Amino acid sequence: MIIKTPTEVKNIIKLLTDAGYEAYAVGGCVRDSIMGMTPHDWDICTSAEPKEVLFVLGKKNIVKNGEKHGTVTVLFNRIPYEITTFRSDGEYRDHRRPENVCFVRSLREDLARRDFTVNAIAYNDSTGICDYYDGAGDIEKKIIRCVGDPDKRFNEDALRILRALRFSSRLGFTIEKKTSESIHKNAPLLKSISSERIMSEFTQILMGKNTERVLLDYSDVIAVFIPEIKPMIGMQQHNPHHIYDVWTHTVKAVAAVKNERILRLCAFFHDIGKPRCATIDDRGIGHFKGHPSLGADMTRTILRRLKTDNKTIDSVIPLIEMHDDRALPEPKYIRRSIAKLGEPLYPQLLELKKADAMAQNPETIAEKLEYIEKLREIYENEIQIGTAFSVRELRINGNDIMTLGITDGKTIGKILTQLQAMVIDGQLKNNREELLGAVKNMEI
Ligand code: ATP
Ligand code: MG
Repeated sequence: MIIKTPTEVKNIIKLLTDAGYEAYAVGGCVRDSIMGMTPHDWDICTSAEPKEVLFVLGKKNIVKNGEKHGTVTVLFNRIPYEITTFRSDGEYRDHRRPENVCFVRSLREDLARRDFTVNAIAYNDSTGICDYYDGAGDIEKKIIRCVGDPDKRFNEDALRILRALRFSSRLGFTIEKKTSESIHKNAPLLKSISSERIMSEFTQILMGKNTERVLLDYSDVIAVFIPEIKPMIGMQQHNPHHIYDVWTHTVKAVAAVKNERILRLCAFFHDIGKPRCATIDDRGIGHFKGHPSLGADMTRTILRRLKTDNKTIDSVIPLIEMHDDRALPEPKYIRRSIAKLGEPLYPQLLELKKADAMAQNPETIAEKLEYIEKLREIYENEIQIGTAFSVRELRINGNDIMTLGITDGKTIGKILTQLQAMVIDGQLKNNREELLGAVKNMEI
């Protein structure tokens, strides 16, 4: 089998092999190529030690010299390539990083330390595919399987548990039985992994095409770092709008929503407040009053715990808070919702509402989607006519008000806020004449 490698990769491999070392493309790039997908980057492994790589490739091309861990990053044609010396990992103490790495001269040993068979394939044009663990066979069968004994591998590095879920979700592969059993068994080891790493893998799990299956099958793994989901699992809703328990509904909403990071996170967390808000009325119907704002509070706590950046939190929280907003589909009410949420987030709210509806009782979907379409039409129209959803968007500013003889800064601020509220309420259009006219008529 021939894999089409970029010219830069061919060049790096040639320089190293001409100098007497072995060098191969390895890992994700080989896996993706065999699957017919375009790799997003190319990693290279070599028998040359870092200082030998430096010598062969020339210091001027080196951008990062992680000599200790055996990885040198070079820039060829302005694209970075990671070149890692064959190594076997030393003893693991903290379920994450080996105490020391040990350079070895054989590819076979290097491939043995890699996580999954599909990631343990190397390639160069002269040797072809080097695949000691039948990774190509597992790609064919669409299987994620540990290289070696799963219990041992997950104990060495618990992050591999989430990597398995990530590859399963992204590639649509099933996790092989022994590997899968070991994941369930060793999931608590994830407690030793840093929040940043967990969050990065978790969002990638949410963004894979197979996320529904992975979340349903491995909810116990997710619950290790988000225990708040436990009461959602199997919780019946006793409500004609729903046919799934809270967890299944949530997972289906994640799979239904557009594949964007913020939206996937919103869908995952949108109903997390439900278990603590559940009540049942005299007719036996379930209600979850207040779950959006409780859910938003819980999500803030969880995302902070997972060291999520503030920008993400600032988008996710208001969307969760508003996800169940049922404003009448009339401009006046919709303008209020848009202003409350913040105009730039509103299209995302519509996407979230759509996914939420699609994960509910199929008999009610059409009617809900129709409602959401009305919201979209109103929103688009308001954007077109230039409604001001914030003071900044008003077609007059503080200077205009000063020309009317009002000089006190505080008063000017109050006037602008009031004008904007009047625009939202439909008492005024966002144009200069109307706005200035309104200021003249105001009692100040
Ligand atoms: P992606 O397409 O997401 O980059 P990848 O398979 O290239 O997937 P990387 O995280 O870039 O994944 O790692 C490159 C290679 O290094 C992997 O294919 C695997 O062989 C090896 N590897 C990475 N992380 C680990 C780990 N925690 N344990 C063992 N091997 C690992
Ligand atoms: Mg990679």
